[in-house]
Amino acid sequence: MKRILCFALPLLLLVAGCATTKGPQFASLPDAKEQVAEYYEKGDYIRDVTFIMRKATQYIQDVAKSKQYAKPAIVLDVDDTALDTYEYQRGMGFGHNGKLWHTWIAMKRGKAIPPVLEFAKEAERLGYAIFFVSGRREAQREDTELNLKAVGYPQWTQFFSKPDNYRAPSVIPYKTECRRKIEEQGYTIVANIGDMTSDLDGGYALECFLLPNYIYEVK
Ligand SMILES: [Mg+2]
Repeated sequence: MKRILCFALPLLLLVAGCATTKGPQFASLPDAKEQVAEYYEKGDYIRDVTFIMRKATQYIQDVAKSKQYAKPAIVLDVDDTALDTYEYQRGMGFGHNGKLWHTWIAMKRGKAIPPVLEFAKEAERLGYAIFFVSGRREAQREDTELNLKAVGYPQWTQFFSKPDNYRAPSVIPYKTECRRKIEEQGYTIVANIGDMTSDLDGGYALECFLLPNYIYEVK
């Protein structure tokens, strides 16, 4: 009888009190995914993007008024800056698969992110040259440019895509070199817009504007 109690008592306590370890101080993966989905789907994401792009728009308007630069330019990243990839991300359960990603790009289904599209149109109206500096590879360039055109981005001066054989652990050297090449042509990059710090680090821009991304990280 004593022996049975020895086993039964801890078991009873476990059932009654749901004993558990204290555990880590972050959400479980399903909860975190749900929170992220809510952020994107219930209006918070677009509200935050709108807030940042209003600041960026005001900034390029002020610089245009000052007429300080002979060849002013803006730089836009593509994924989750110019084009919304949420459909792919959600469809993948916020995971990633290189082959399916390539297929999704080829479908040219990226929608414009409206405040960024409006910013690009305003930049064009103000006389800025528009450059895209994308982490998408050269093999994806044609589909990406067609997608950007289809959703209404104004004519760009140059589209930079990552070389197919680029294998460095970070995109920063590639993206920085693109901006250096733009400025080498006499342009002043007034504003650089991206959703990753790796879009913005490395200089060659007067101001940088970072959009939210809670789904993935590109170093
Ligand atoms: Mg991006």
